[in-house]
Order: sequence, then structure tokens, then C-alpha cells
Amino acid sequence: MLEVKGISRFFKGLVALDNVSFTVEQGNILGIIGPNGAGKSTLFNCITCFFPPSEGSVYFEGKKITGLSPYQITELGLTRTFQHTQVFPKLSVYENITTGQYVIKRKDPSRTKAHLEQKAHEIMEFVGVSQYKDTTAENLSLGYQTRLAIGIALATEPKLFLLDEPAAGMNPEETNQLVHLLREIRNKLGVTIILIEHDMKAVMGLCDKIVVLEYGKKIAEGTPQEIQQNPRVIEAYLGSEALA
Ligand code: ADP
Ligand code: MG
Repeated sequence: MLEVKGISRFFKGLVALDNVSFTVEQGNILGIIGPNGAGKSTLFNCITCFFPPSEGSVYFEGKKITGLSPYQITELGLTRTFQHTQVFPKLSVYENITTGQYVIKRKDPSRTKAHLEQKAHEIMEFVGVSQYKDTTAENLSLGYQTRLAIGIALATEPKLFLLDEPAAGMNPEETNQLVHLLREIRNKLGVTIILIEHDMKAVMGLCDKIVVLEYGKKIAEGTPQEIQQNPRVIEAYLGSEALA
């Protein structure tokens, strides 16, 4: 579904990404892990055309997407959340969800208002925010703001969904619920997922494959089991404690 081919990104003297390549199969959940500053968010920015890579290209369903604008990317079915949860703080939960639907309205003008309203309610139900539909987003807890951000993304009807550290700041219970939700998004909606996450229990439990970045370089790629046993990864990131 996605092919990242020799991506590099330079910021002045800094090499934030260094010749990174990998593929993502349809229906999989791919994890991206690595220390802070490893280039994970930069990788998402390059994939979603938030800014272009300095070198290399990204292919989505066989089509080169490097150089397109972020809204064209979303129309193709590629949606992301940001590292710090972004919702429209002054809008209600329901209004937030409908902002994601503008992509669908433009892409398919035949969808009726009633149809979109029903879809918005289904999404609120799916991500578990229905009971707050009229609540102003800024009054939600972090866990529910993250659910809402995921709902906005789902409203664009993505085929591939990228999430940047969605469990950051969550307690273990909220993280468990998030893991459950992400699994449902893949299993019930058939959405392919790329997940940047520090919570190793979440990553190892969810992902089919993991890519490890360090100083902008891909230092390992494999199944959760392979990654947990990889000496280079343990040294660079996991440490003996995480394994225990
Ligand atoms: P991660 O998400 O893995 O923590 P980032 O991709 O955010 O890492 O950052 C990788 C490196 O690139 C860091 O050294 C960071 O300071 C730098 N960087 C990221 N974005 C920019 C930017 N827009 N301008 C300059 N440097 C940046
Ligand atoms: Mg980051």
C-alpha cells in the first residue's frame, strides 16, 4: 500500500532522516519506534507531504505522492493525527467530526446531508464520544480529545491512517482503550495503520511489523518478537529494563 523509498530530510546542517526505506502492506499495523529526535515525526511529515523529503520518494498504491499537497494526500485516502492532539477547541464534538467530512463532500458531491450526518453519528459511536456530542472539545479529558482527533481523521474515510504518539500522556487504562480502538479500526474498518508510539506494551501488542529509527537511520525492521530480541535495538532504545 505504501512504499517509502530512500527518504532523507536535512534541516540546515542536521540530518533528520537518512536514506530510510520500508513498505507497508494493506491491512497491517506498522509501528515506528526510536528515541526522541530519531526522525519519526519528520518521517510522517514527509509521507503526508506536510513538507517534502530532501531526497527520495513515497509511493501510495503504486502512485508517487511526493510533491502533492497535504489536501491532495487526504483526498487519496491518507490521513494523520499530530503528536500533540489537535481538535478545534471551541467547536462541539459533533462539529469537530463534521470538519473531517469536508474532504468527502468535495470528493463526492453526491453524498447527501442526511447521509453525512448519519456517518458522523456512526463515527462518534465508533470512537466512543457520542455521549459528549454537544460538549465543547476543550472541555474533554485528554483521552477523549484523542478519541475525537481519531474521529476527525476517520471522517475523511482514510485507507491509510498515521498516528503520532497517540498514547502520550495517557494513563494505563486510557492506553488499553486506545489499543482496543486502533485494533477495531484495522479489523472492522479495514484501515491500514502506521503508529509512532513510545508505549512498548501497546506497540508490541498491536503491530505486525516494526521499523526502528535512530539518528534518522533505520537500524532494524521486523516482527515485534524479532525487534525485542535485536541486540542493536536493545542497546539503542529498548534497554534491558524494557525487555524485563
Ligand atoms: P522524533 O519525532 O523521532 O522525536 P523529529 O522528527 O521530531 O524526531 O526530529 C528529528 C530531528 O529533526 C530533531 O533533531 C529535530 O530537532 C529536527 N527537526 C524536526 N523538525 C524540524 C524543523 N521543522 N526544523 C528544524 N529541525 C527540525
Ligand atoms: Mg515526534
